[in-house]
Amino acid sequence: MGKVKLATAWLDGCAGCHMSLLDMDEDLVGIASAVEFTRSPITDIKDFPEVDVGLVEGAIGNVAHEEEVRELRKKCKILIVLGDCACFGGIPSMRNRFSKEEVLRRAYIESESTKDGKIPSSPEIPPLLEQALPVGAVVKVDCFVPGCPPNARAIKYALTELLQGRIPVLPGEMMRFD
Ligand code: SF4
Repeated sequence: MGKVKLATAWLDGCAGCHMSLLDMDEDLVGIASAVEFTRSPITDIKDFPEVDVGLVEGAIGNVAHEEEVRELRKKCKILIVLGDCACFGGIPSMRNRFSKEEVLRRAYIESESTKDGKIPSSPEIPPLLEQALPVGAVVKVDCFVPGCPPNARAIKYALTELLQGRIPVLPGEMMRFD
């Protein structure tokens, strides 16, 4: 059997979920022998090829995130969301109590460290969505791996299940964070 092709996306998140993926330490060696990493912040490959598995970190906060996750959904057979931001909106969704204009004004004009602030308006900056959304609000998700970040054991479990041909369903003890 050939290697399972995997792509990962980093949306509105802090990179902690990707760090947790790397935190599998020596187990990464076993995973890497069965998995081919394609587009990912880890590889810096720019385009999504057709893949078996897509992993997403982060909420959907702007137009570029939305395009990226729709593209990955089209290109992958199974989509896994990693971490509370991707699963539920997480920290990025704390801004949802305010309007987009209020959020931009607070960040770029009213922050305590800003003098003569200005809201950036370059066309190269993807516009914010009105609200930060969990991935499942935009595309179909096949497996949720929550946590902030999800622990490496849960990520390893999900990947191992996939390599055995099963859609991962995390056991209850991996969903407890107390
Ligand atoms: S779930 Fe936590 S670790 Fe992952 S991107 Fe969000 S804030 Fe960072």
